[in-house]
Amino acid sequence: MSQGTLENASISIRSTTPSPAPSAGTATKAAKERAGGIHASNSPLVLKALPYREDALEPAISARTLALHHGQHHRAYIDSINRMVAGTSLAGRPLESLIRATAAMPAQIELFNNAAQAWNHEFYWQSLRPRGAAPVAPSLQRSIDASFGSMQSLKAELAAACMLQFGSGWGWLVADGNKLRVITTSNADTPLLHGLKPLLAIDLWEHAYYIDHQNRRAEYVAAVLDQLLNWDFAAQKLARTRHS
Ligand code: MN
Repeated sequence: MSQGTLENASISIRSTTPSPAPSAGTATKAAKERAGGIHASNSPLVLKALPYREDALEPAISARTLALHHGQHHRAYIDSINRMVAGTSLAGRPLESLIRATAAMPAQIELFNNAAQAWNHEFYWQSLRPRGAAPVAPSLQRSIDASFGSMQSLKAELAAACMLQFGSGWGWLVADGNKLRVITTSNADTPLLHGLKPLLAIDLWEHAYYIDHQNRRAEYVAAVLDQLLNWDFAAQKLARTRHS
């Protein structure tokens, strides 16, 4: 399977596979859509490559976990979406569009779950970075101090929230207007649907940590908080919320 570019921090999945030749009946419609600036490609979504090697997050997150988590779980969400939208009006839509289109449609719950999980996972991979100290950008640090008092308080709140999330879900640092907040979402739910701008995600599904930490979610969360969060990515996302 082809993969997206590593350096592209955009969350949209874009296909690198060529579109199938349109049939005679759809050629005119496709040409009109191209002329109108609407993307006319019905190319399937593609699993983007991890932004680092599979062993880059060891020992907190092993290469075996990443191989399964990205190569099997995340891939399965993408494959399921492609299977479900094939031949429908939803074919070719990017993930965020699929999420918004299906969120309020009970009959589309399976497609929603797969699209939201795929989006959340892309965000999660970018929320992590290989081990190594990285200073927090001054603008982000000011926001953290204003909203939580200190980085230490933010980490304590995020850790506590992650432990309180019952069952599968996600821990998030989000921007809510001018304020930063810690929230959790259940199952595939995503801050996009709640008017919030995600800055960092922590996957709390057991498949994210069970191989490396068994049932010790606190140990996994602490390792992510202390060693792996990508504060540069969070700062970029925060800057984007202020310029959009
Ligand atoms: Mn996961």
